[in-house]
Amino acid sequence: MGSDEDRSILQAGERVLLVDAKERRYLITLRTGASFHTHVGIVDHDSLIGSPEGSTVLGSTGRRFLVVRPTLSDAVLKMPRGAQVIYPKDLGAILIEADIAPGARVLEAGVGSGALSMALLRAGADVVGYELREDFAERARSNVAAMVGEGAPYRVEIRDIYEGIEERGLDRILLDLPEPWRVLSHAEVALRPGGILCAYLPSINQTAQLRAAMEPTGFGMASTLEVLHRTWHIEDRSVRPDHRMVGHTGFLTTARLLIPFEDRRVPESETTGRADAGSEDPAQDEPAEE
Ligand code: SAH
Repeated sequence: MGSDEDRSILQAGERVLLVDAKERRYLITLRTGASFHTHVGIVDHDSLIGSPEGSTVLGSTGRRFLVVRPTLSDAVLKMPRGAQVIYPKDLGAILIEADIAPGARVLEAGVGSGALSMALLRAGADVVGYELREDFAERARSNVAAMVGEGAPYRVEIRDIYEGIEERGLDRILLDLPEPWRVLSHAEVALRPGGILCAYLPSINQTAQLRAAMEPTGFGMASTLEVLHRTWHIEDRSVRPDHRMVGHTGFLTTARLLIPFEDRRVPESETTGRADAGSEDPAQDEPAEE
């Protein structure tokens, strides 16, 4: 029974989130003998190592710090980034809209700082990333290793996805780059039928251009949404929306690769005498026998 508690014990080498009295957050990696300096005091890592998550420790000046392991959202907002990351509110929506499930074969481009990669891997997908910049690819690999672990099914290649996609039979393609319409023809051969393409774009002009470019392609069932996320201030008698919110991030567009419809109806003259035979078996609607 002790195991629930054991899982809470913080170990050297782990990343933790420190939260001070003013709710400022700091992401640090625990090292034996090290200390973390903030302008409100020093926290010894040794006072954190061996404590359970959720503990409060005192810094050198007597200030309190709360310590917990970072959630994926904490990690995304605090990790080193070069490119703009996809915000947690949108990461959640992408996982559902693109229907990411364990074992799904996913191609992602560009990889940027790896925020979306982490969310995909945490949901159990196998991820291949294409990224133009070696420095971003390297940062994404290290961010992913820190959050998801070294053994994650994750590979990043330095490639321009506008030039083509090598993989075949993909379940999902996720795009966070400026001109996703330039990927559609490659995606049509790389995705399996029924596969989902999901593109994240900051402006509605780009989104409209993508939707128009999809019209003559094999992509259908297209939909576009944005996520409005408003937090609330709840304290005593003051219960109201917070004054500030992230007003805009991006638009999410999904579509599915469909098989072109060929009209296979047999002309009536060829079906004489065999009307309805073999079709619409009502028994198929009945529940299977236990
Ligand atoms: N989704 C990422 C952020 C991506 S930022 C995250 O959550 O962290 C956009 C990235 O796309 C940049 O790193 C840029 O270098 C890359 N990129 C732009 N055009 C590309 C292309 N044609 N092929 C591959 N990567 C591309």
